[in-house]
Amino acid sequence: MSGIVAIVGRPNVGKSTLFNRMIKRRDAIVDEMSGVTRDRHYGRSDWNGREFSLIDTGGYVVGSEDIFEKEIDKQVELAIDEADVIVFVVDVETGVTGMDEEVAQLLRQVDKPVFVAVNKVDNAMRAADAVEFYALGLGDYYTISSINGSGTGELLDAVVEGLPENVEEEEEDLPRFAVVGRPNAGKSSFINALLGEERYIVTDIAGTTRDSVDTRYNRFGFEFSLVDTAGIRRKAKVKEDLEFYTVMRSVRAIEHSDVCLLVVDATRGFEKQDQNIFWLAERNKKGIVILVNKWDLVEKETNTMKEFENRIRKEIEPFTDVPVIFMSALTKQRIYKAIETAVEVYKNKTKRISTSKLNDVMLPIIEHNPPPAHKGKYVKIKFCTQLPTPTPQFAFFANLPQYVRDPYKRFLENKLRQNFDFHGVPVQVYLRKK
Ligand code: GDP
Ligand code: GDP
Repeated sequence: MSGIVAIVGRPNVGKSTLFNRMIKRRDAIVDEMSGVTRDRHYGRSDWNGREFSLIDTGGYVVGSEDIFEKEIDKQVELAIDEADVIVFVVDVETGVTGMDEEVAQLLRQVDKPVFVAVNKVDNAMRAADAVEFYALGLGDYYTISSINGSGTGELLDAVVEGLPENVEEEEEDLPRFAVVGRPNAGKSSFINALLGEERYIVTDIAGTTRDSVDTRYNRFGFEFSLVDTAGIRRKAKVKEDLEFYTVMRSVRAIEHSDVCLLVVDATRGFEKQDQNIFWLAERNKKGIVILVNKWDLVEKETNTMKEFENRIRKEIEPFTDVPVIFMSALTKQRIYKAIETAVEVYKNKTKRISTSKLNDVMLPIIEHNPPPAHKGKYVKIKFCTQLPTPTPQFAFFANLPQYVRDPYKRFLENKLRQNFDFHGVPVQVYLRKK
């Protein structure tokens, strides 16, 4: 668990500029390289060694100027519900507006850290103009310029200070599953189908984190806990099928889980929202199982399933080594398979390969297919080992690690997958100097 920071404010104050400055650059670079459209409003960031999720709530609104105030209010309310820390961005150029006052009124009632960031303070002259934001009644403010970066360091210091303490998760050996997906995909139907009967519930474990309750289950001979978050339970509050809601809802559950069961509505196909939740899980290095639900509603011909599956795999490139299961929460078809697969993915995620076994398998492959020479220099990989990390990560030691490019790293990852089965699990490959 790391914590969730939400950036709120009315349109054009500079939220997305601030967001881009705050997220890890690496994230952005990876996205550009893979060429996949990803959610630009959710990212991982760290500051002073604290990692956190960052959400630009404004990014989910289409059309900026004429946006309804009601819409902003709803966004702020959801951010208040779901985030640990809120950054309220205002604009020194326009001064305090009516919409700012309205947002401030919501934020004044909040019992979690709220930081006012007065943006566009590009020079010292403008700093003086910022005093009027005291009138928002939210106490001290930070003057920043998202464009040139000034003041953002101080803001980040305060933000990470405001994050909840890193609570050690209880070292339960139980896999933690999060059922995620867009509204109406069938998440609650699936959970009910699976566990509807009280007798499968073993116990409620009070969550170590605010608002989160894990429920332990024993079903089909598997023990696991389902991550339930306030967001999922308070589902009745907002019903709209907006990306923003789905993301806000999913982030905490995903962070808190080992394996994400991504429920997709077969009658709608694998859409952008599904893709974004997928990447949310992937970026958090979680195991993933894709559950194509409502399969009972789909007209089937010989290749329907295969074609559906291929389309999904195309959308999730390059991380395609993920189980896809066609099921129906309504008829309970393959819900056993869904859980069985999630348990397998959990095993893959926690798998340890001994160094000797790893080298026995990988070194001959590398010898057969060495990294391409770079500027006339030969790269020699001498040794590899699995790192003692919570998710599968591998270090390959070489004389010239900087010359090993992404295509070769992907080659190594694929070979690892072929030989050791990391189905459903993000795998990281690093090259290090030996
Ligand atoms: P959002 O709608 O709140 O996400 O706002 P944007 O990040 O899209 O920014 C709105 C406009 O303000 C853009 O033209 C930005 O270039 C500009 N802007 C953002 N931050 C700053 C800043 O620190 N200084 C100045 N002068 N302009 C900024
Ligand atoms: P959630 O918002 O993701 O929790 O979705 P729900 O579980 O509330 O389901 C949304 C709607 O889809 C409800 O009307 C369900 O009865 C229906 N539904 C869910 N799963 C299935 C399924 O496998 N087959 C069919 N035909 N309908 C389903």
